[in-house]
Amino acid sequence: MPPRAEIVVDLAAIRHNVRLLREIVGPGVAMMTVVKADGYGHGMVPVARAAREAGADWLGVATIDEALALRAAGDTGRVLCWLTVPGEDYAAAAAADLDVTAYSVAELDEMAAAGVTRVQLKVDTGLSRGGVARADWGTVFEHARALELRGSLRVTGVWSHFAASDDPDHPANTAQEAAFADALELAGAAGLEPEVRHLANSAGAVLRPASRHDLVRCGIASYGLDPAPGVTGDLGLRPAMTVRADLAMVKRIHAGAGVSYGHTWTAPDDTTVGLVPVGYGEGIPRAAGNRVEAWAGGARRPVRGRVCMDQVVIDLGDDVLAPGDDVVLFGPGDDGEPTAQDWAEALDTINYEIVTRMGGRLARRHVDGGGA
Ligand SMILES: *Cc1c(COP(=O)(O)O)cnc(C)c1O
Repeated sequence: MPPRAEIVVDLAAIRHNVRLLREIVGPGVAMMTVVKADGYGHGMVPVARAAREAGADWLGVATIDEALALRAAGDTGRVLCWLTVPGEDYAAAAAADLDVTAYSVAELDEMAAAGVTRVQLKVDTGLSRGGVARADWGTVFEHARALELRGSLRVTGVWSHFAASDDPDHPANTAQEAAFADALELAGAAGLEPEVRHLANSAGAVLRPASRHDLVRCGIASYGLDPAPGVTGDLGLRPAMTVRADLAMVKRIHAGAGVSYGHTWTAPDDTTVGLVPVGYGEGIPRAAGNRVEAWAGGARRPVRGRVCMDQVVIDLGDDVLAPGDDVVLFGPGDDGEPTAQDWAEALDTINYEIVTRMGGRLARRHVDGGGA
């Protein structure tokens, strides 16, 4: 019997998406599948395995700990991590043969001292987040080259990250591509010959061919979600995540009955409500109260009233459902069920946040095709 409430992840969908993205970017462009934040909520290790099976040349994560977890699970391919703090365990990163990203001279020195041999340099081309500030590009490139000449490490990559790739006409994209070209020229002038130069995330990879360079870093599209809703068109991606639960209880309520904390919804007519045993403890946003729908008994059912810590109430109208019946909070959308994108739109957020936050007490089950 499946657990009462679970995240079902279709690994066949992940493989399909990774292969599709490889086709879209074409030959000669390496594919990095980004599996940070527990694979955007899909389970990092099984997703990483599926991505490798579908030909991912690289895996990308934020932290060294994430990368070490991939190694512990047996991954032996190239893995890049890109967000460290002072005092990080670079010796472990070196022993695990990771590619680590440096943003500064101080980080380069700390990495070199710990024996890290493969370093990538991230340059800030306009996001104003991580990465070497433009004024320091020359200094950092020359310092990295000096460390190379001393034989202590190799610069395997120079890269950057877009600010507005989901809005392909935003002027920041062109400006960042130009700045990145400048950075590559400066790196070359310093004597660096990186193995990979990369700029594009999913949206960049799909929508801005000029940003593909040697490698693309695809996260959200690998999970089958639209990287630029309203812009991308139908690429044929398949959403991999379904969140489902068993209906806990069904009951009739009368017109005028208030539902859930604060009675933010009052039944206008007699209706049947269903109790779904998931709440914000499972990552369902509290803001989803009165705003999203679930799928049960072959139809969409509005969530009524506030989302509680452990439970949420859906409106079944006059339909007859029973405890134990299947409720899909969101899924691929193939049968009419809401999607993570539908929830994101209802909640003024992005599909990334919807899938990544799912967890808590939810079990996670990986399947291979056939959906949930
Ligand atoms: C998360 C992340 C990505 C993946 O972005 P998507 O939009 O999910 O494809 C790529 N590069 C960096 C640096 C990231 O932090």
